[in-house]
Amino acid sequence: MKEKLLEIRGAFFSALEEVLTPQEVEKLRIEYLGKSGALREILKQMGSLSKEERPRMGELANEMRDSMSQAIADKLGELELRLLDRKVEEEKIDITLPGESQPMGRVHPTTKTIRELIDVFIRMGFVLEEGPEVESVYNNFDALNSPKDHPSRGLSDTFYFDPSTLLRTHTSPVQIRTMKKMEPPIRMISVGRCFRNDEIDATHSPMFYQMEGLVVGEGISMADLKGTLEEFVRQLFGEDTKSVFRPHNFPFTEPSAEVDITCFKCHGEGCRFCGGVGFIEILGCGMVHPKVLEECGIDSEKYTGFAFGMGLDRITMMRYEIDDIRYLYDNDKRFLDQFRR
Ligand SMILES: [Zn+2]
Repeated sequence: MKEKLLEIRGAFFSALEEVLTPQEVEKLRIEYLGKSGALREILKQMGSLSKEERPRMGELANEMRDSMSQAIADKLGELELRLLDRKVEEEKIDITLPGESQPMGRVHPTTKTIRELIDVFIRMGFVLEEGPEVESVYNNFDALNSPKDHPSRGLSDTFYFDPSTLLRTHTSPVQIRTMKKMEPPIRMISVGRCFRNDEIDATHSPMFYQMEGLVVGEGISMADLKGTLEEFVRQLFGEDTKSVFRPHNFPFTEPSAEVDITCFKCHGEGCRFCGGVGFIEILGCGMVHPKVLEECGIDSEKYTGFAFGMGLDRITMMRYEIDDIRYLYDNDKRFLDQFRR
């Protein structure tokens, strides 16, 4: 019996050497020290021993149980420590690793231009007005004194929903809306998308951005128009940029003019960019036609006003030296990523 007991002890300790998890230790405990474990099974045979042998074997069995229990407790403690060590190792943060950077969005060049232009005019005392992109033919053409047979009204030039509704072809209807709802003095700008049934090429897009300005009050003259636009040009393009007013013709202004500024590339000397003339056209303007004022219920004997409008895509292209308008609408990330803050 003694041999058997020692055999069990040997087997237990060598098995304990092998275990790697607390679960395996528990399995081993049940196998050897449990109710139907190896030790209990042997002790059932105590009855067959002699009187002298019985206490000695009992003593040995007790010793064994104690030492095995102790070994189990030690093993569990050891495993727990090892587990903790591994956890510490695995969860260690390497502060020398480079950080994970989040890609930053960028402001679209057209949006940048819009924001800067709005800032310039707000500083000059203008207020920002808004109007819908889906407009009435009345606001877009009739109220602006556009002749009934003007080519811009044609189906080939304008997107119509029905005979009286269209996608606005310029931001000028916002002037009509503002004059109808406000009494002079008026000093407003408006920015937004406009639509024309144009060809799509390097300089034309069926959707484009315009900015529009309107000032109405007593004694407003062409000199006010010139002063305002010259100040705007200086603020946006720099102190030494010169502007030139050229007579032009628009149905809604009289007199009308187009404004050219000195080429930002050659500063007036002439280059490929400006076609050798040294100047670039940037906007159209004029004194508001009395018929337009009257149409909006403003007394044209008492009040006068001036208006101007410009293509923002063109200005954006000039400022960032972009040679194709389609880049502004393609949403090509390679293009947009070049406009970092
Ligand atoms: Zn030039």
